[in-house]
Formats: sequence, structure tokens, C-alpha cells
Amino acid sequence: MSSLSNSLDQTDRALLIHPYSNLVAHEQAGPLIISRGDGVRVYDVGGKEYIEGLGGLWSASLGFSEREIAEAVYEQMVQLPFYHGFHSKSTPSLIKLAHHLAEISPIPDAKFFFANSGSEINDTVIKCIWYANNVAGYPAKKKIITRNRSYHGVTIATASMTGLAANHSDFDLPIDRFLKVMCPDFYREGLEGESEEQFSDRCVAEVRDLIEREGADTIAAFVADPVIAGGGVLPPPKGYFEKLQPLLKENKILFVADEVICGFGRTGNMFATETYNLRPDIVTVAKALTASYIPMSAAMIAPSVWQPIVEGSRKHSVFAHGYTYSGHPVAAAAALKTLEIMEKRNIIGHVKTVAKVFASRLESYRGHPLVGDVRHVGLIGGIELVSNKATKAPFPVEVGTGAHCLRAAHKHGVILRSIGDIVAFCPPLIISEDEVDEMFSRFDRALDDTHAMLKGKELA
Ligand code: PLP
Repeated sequence: MSSLSNSLDQTDRALLIHPYSNLVAHEQAGPLIISRGDGVRVYDVGGKEYIEGLGGLWSASLGFSEREIAEAVYEQMVQLPFYHGFHSKSTPSLIKLAHHLAEISPIPDAKFFFANSGSEINDTVIKCIWYANNVAGYPAKKKIITRNRSYHGVTIATASMTGLAANHSDFDLPIDRFLKVMCPDFYREGLEGESEEQFSDRCVAEVRDLIEREGADTIAAFVADPVIAGGGVLPPPKGYFEKLQPLLKENKILFVADEVICGFGRTGNMFATETYNLRPDIVTVAKALTASYIPMSAAMIAPSVWQPIVEGSRKHSVFAHGYTYSGHPVAAAAALKTLEIMEKRNIIGHVKTVAKVFASRLESYRGHPLVGDVRHVGLIGGIELVSNKATKAPFPVEVGTGAHCLRAAHKHGVILRSIGDIVAFCPPLIISEDEVDEMFSRFDRALDDTHAMLKGKELA
């Protein structure tokens, strides 16, 4: 290690609490310090090159060296580095962004609210729904339904929505008002002999039972990430949303699509709402809105929700919600340029083409002795490693199969994510067919290493 990387490593270990990291392991192993990006590749301080197979955090849609965004950000910084939206203030870049979003929004006549992260915007949406229901005369209609293994963020409300134990344990979460239903994971939750459609029926029947038990007049919204990503890369099973949506409508329960990962091309359309024919009342987006170059998130809100909010502000003289950086003009400039590039370079068309190679490489793992399931849509995919393909038995947790595979992937020059023993792929949308091939070739070596490790332990 060079003296520079050594001193960075020591300083990092001494000073930083890393998000989503095992802090004890981190003190021993130290950080992977990434210092440069180029296209779909990033480089660590020692000069080692990696294909970023997860687009950073499912997010860097345009890769790591898009100069046009850097220049747009620079120009905005020089022109007006900051202004806010409180007390009816605005900026041209934010207005242009809202105008552009209105043209592509899957929600007709939507209004837009901006924040800085997926967590903040989902949190905002819950507050907006509660506020709107109070103003509209439904003060009891407040509970929020989400799915086990869904991911919606880490604030007190959004971690309560998130269906992952690690986000709750010792954080005193979830708080009340947040209800959970089954994860629509056909591979793990489907019963012997049950078809995918029948499984979807069972998932929706559980929601119906919950609504009946709790009372529709107490349930405000159902929030779903159309493809559950962080919980294991789970596109919805056949018929799931088709059957769910009428049930929600019948019971006047709002449907919120959390498109923080899916939005802006990930599933092969601009929004997953289109991919899965969803008709949500609210859509939240973040990550690829700015290609992740600058923090920004947004909610697209239907008239049925924003109208009571406007009324509420009449009643209270103010809509008392907002962040210092809601609609930050520099983030707005980055978002505008991102959307312009997506259009100009037909990124969605590119995703549709490259997704075919991505899908066929993933599908080729179905026959692999360690692979129990393969799932994908657009440019997001996952493979689930199991110790027994026939029984779907997982590897013992203490073996850390997924984590081992991930470390091996790093060694072979591809950064991925392991979720237990599920390996996730979510590369920048600009990835070429050759780069997809290269990414999977590097992963093949990691899978071989993992296989060898398991054989050594007589587990494969
Ligand atoms: N919603 C979904 C679907 C996500 O995947 C994430 C983060 O990965 C969030 C919300 C939270 O976003 P953030 O980490 O920006 O708070």
C-alpha cells in the first residue's frame, strides 16, 4: 500500500462511522477507498480498476465520468450556488425541472415536492398523506401497509416502513401505524404445487384480510417498491399488482410507488409504473434523478392528495414542511442535465437492447450447481445461491457464502452487492454489451472461487 493510501486507511478507521457496515469488521479490514471513476468503472487509491456492477448504490445511472453534468453543476454554482423554496421563493432551474418532470410524470396533473434522499421523500409522503387525511376529514385513516423485505429508507417513519429486521432491532422500531404483509417472493414463499398466479392471489388475500381486520377507515396507504431491490431483487410475481390495485381502490387506500431505484430507466421504461402497468397516487424518485451526482429526491403527487394539502395550508396559514435544501438549484441543474442526456442519447432504448444480453448472461446461471434462482428485469438482476437446488436449502449463515462471493468479486474486479446469499447486479444504464459480458466473466471467477471454498468445507 502506498503511504497515501495507508494514511487514508488509518484515518478512515480512526474517524468514520460507516453507513451499513459491520463496524467491528471495518476496524480490522479498513475501507475500500475509491478515488476515481470512468464510465462504468471506478478505481481505488491503489489504482485497481473495478466494473461498478451495482452503479454505486443502484443509482449511478450514467456512470462515473459524465462531464456534461459536472459542467451544468459548475455553471449553476457560478450563477446561483444556493437558494431555497421557503416562503414562495423559487429558482429558474427548479422551475425548469418541475416542467420537465410534468412532461414525463406517470401521474396526471401531479405536483412535485423535492427533498434530498429517498428516505426524506418517503418520510415526506407519509406526512403529506396524514396531513391530507386530517384536512379531508378522515382523521382515523392513518395506517401504512408495506411488505416484508421492502426497503423505503432509514428515518423513523421510513425505517418503520422498511421490512428488514436489521433496520428495526435496537432502534426501537417500527413505531405503530406501520403494518406489514408477506414478501412477494415466489421462490421462497410459494407453496409446493402453487402457481405464480395462485401465489399472487394468496399475497393479495393476506392484504384483504389485514384491511378487514384493521378496518379500511384506519388504513391510509399501501407503499411498494415495484421491484424489491435491497431485500433480494424481487420483481413482482405474475398478477400481483393487477390484483392488488383494485383492492386498494375499493377501500380508498392510496397506492404509493417507491421508484427510488426503479425510476428513470432501470426496468427498461422510464418508470416501473409503466413496466408493471401501475396506477399509483404518489410516485417517489431519487438516485437516478440526478444520476446520483448530487443528492435530490422528489415526490409526484396526484390532485386527490395535493388538493387537501393546499386546503390545509389555508387552514394553518402555511404548509409547515420542507428542508433547507428542498429543490436545491444545483441539484435541479444536475437533474435537468441528467434527464436531457437520457433523452438525447436514448438511454431507455439502450437499456432495452443491453438488457437482452444482461438477461441471457443471468439466465445462463440457472444450471449452475450453486444457483437456486435467477431474477431480473431491465438492468437489475439477482441470483440466489443455495446449498441444495432441489430443496432450496440455504447455506449455513455462519459460512457467509454471499459475503465470500462478494469479496471474491472485488478481487476479480467487479463491485456487486450480496444480500445474504443473493448476489445483486444493477450496473450503470450506460453499460455496453461488451462491458456486461466482462462484468459477468469477472463474476464467473468469483463464483468459481466460492464454489472451491464451499467444496473445501464439504458444502458443495
Ligand atoms: N426507497 C428505495 C426503494 C430504496 O432502494 C432506497 C435506498 O436504497 C430508499 C428508498 C432510501 O433512499 P436513501 O438511501 O437515499 O435515503
